Amino acid sequence: MEPTADFIREEEVFEAIRRGASADAGRVREVLAKAREARGLDFDEVAALMGVSDPGLLEDLFQTAREVKERIYGRRLVLFAPLYVSNFCRNDCTYCAFRLRNKDVPRRALTQAEVDREVRALVRQGHKRVLLVAGESYPDEGFDYVLRCIDTIYSVKEPPSGEVRRVNVNVAPLSLEEFRALKERKIGTYQLFQETYHRETYRKVHLAGKKRDYDWRVTVMDRAMEAGIDDVGVGILFGLFDWRFEVLALMQHVRHLEQRFGVGPHTISVPRLEPAVGSDLSAHPPFAVPDVEFRKLVAILRLAVPYTGIILSTRETPNIRREAFALGVSQISAGSRTNPGGYTEGECDPGSTEQFSLGDHRSLDEVVRDVASLGYIPSFCTGCYRLGRTGADFMDLAKPGEIRLHCDPNALSTFLEYLLDYGSPETRAAGEAAIEATLQGMEGKERAVSERLLAKVREGRRDVFV
Ligand code: SAM
Ligand code: SF4
Repeated sequence: MEPTADFIREEEVFEAIRRGASADAGRVREVLAKAREARGLDFDEVAALMGVSDPGLLEDLFQTAREVKERIYGRRLVLFAPLYVSNFCRNDCTYCAFRLRNKDVPRRALTQAEVDREVRALVRQGHKRVLLVAGESYPDEGFDYVLRCIDTIYSVKEPPSGEVRRVNVNVAPLSLEEFRALKERKIGTYQLFQETYHRETYRKVHLAGKKRDYDWRVTVMDRAMEAGIDDVGVGILFGLFDWRFEVLALMQHVRHLEQRFGVGPHTISVPRLEPAVGSDLSAHPPFAVPDVEFRKLVAILRLAVPYTGIILSTRETPNIRREAFALGVSQISAGSRTNPGGYTEGECDPGSTEQFSLGDHRSLDEVVRDVASLGYIPSFCTGCYRLGRTGADFMDLAKPGEIRLHCDPNALSTFLEYLLDYGSPETRAAGEAAIEATLQGMEGKERAVSERLLAKVREGRRDVFV
């Protein structure tokens, strides 16, 4: 039986937007009061926040999001890098440089020796978490190519701490069998963006290939979770359709997964459309999201699903990224290249093999220094999934706030590991100051555990976590 996405109900979304637009200041304040309890928001409450435009109320919304973010995530910010292994693709997504009909992009699938080289370049920068990305068409081996790439990534070891400890994967929707194979490879999160939940828009922007099948795509997380992949990441490509519609439809998707599997997505990604070679649409997004609306949607997501990580990529500029950390973003990529081979061969000429243009070109070291100077703790932690704290088990620890007893100490120990093994002298100084300030703000067990882990790292131990 072909899967259908009957849990996305467009009429309900449009009606909620209409109701939300007439929410008065009293209603908005009532929703913000509930949001402050960090237990999430329902569909209509999310809709009520979307229409906020009064500067005072908007500031209240931002302030509430900052408080909830701080309470749940403290000052941690998880760092990762995408690894583009292939840009062959048989789809024709009108916004992407890798689309089949774009003849201006040279095609390439990395050999396993090249994947090895790229991973070495990443671990020499200090990365521990990698997101494998590919177009929808693999070399002769088919999907096995992806599995072999994962094996290669995990096989790289460069002492004292050069290794990838968590591979997340962003590849086209898979079958149940393929997901089972992915699960055996011990991946972290399976991530896929719906791009747009609006069927008509979806049809218009996807012109050829398997990706035209809306239902196959929306039901992908059902198959992933059925196959035992606990951590799934969803996302929207903002700019294709009205962001308010997308966020509410995303809520329907989240609630569907919660009802069916007892747990929703582990992360939500919030890419905005960026200019891509061979794509007019990307140069003129039909529903471009201005910065102020973008901040608003990040804040609303933070309040709607407080325990779901929000991921921001290097598509965004350093300034937007800094603001978004405070409002709710919990994971960022850094030092990224979106062309296969980009870490060893450098950034290509503007507009050759990369997927879209980046807004943040800084190295990992520069991003880490900036993040630490702002008082955040860049985290390279991979503890939860390696200890089996995934899916519902993770949420059971996260919701009563117990996860902080693990996350904060692990963030500090992995950050110190980074500083000692890979940080430049300036970054090390900024980082040590941020670690000290964070320790000063801790008490009791959390501080004792953190100090114990930090001492081990200073003694030369690596990969210590609780
Ligand atoms: N090919 C797979 C797919 O489409 O699902 C996975 C990899 S694809 C390279 C990863 C994501 O890049 C897409 O889901 C899309 O949201 C994003 N993307 C494509 N073109 C973009 C653009 N011009 N600006 C920003 N993000 C873009
Ligand atoms: Fe291919 Fe993914 Fe780009 Fe679409 S977004 S053209 S599927 S790589």
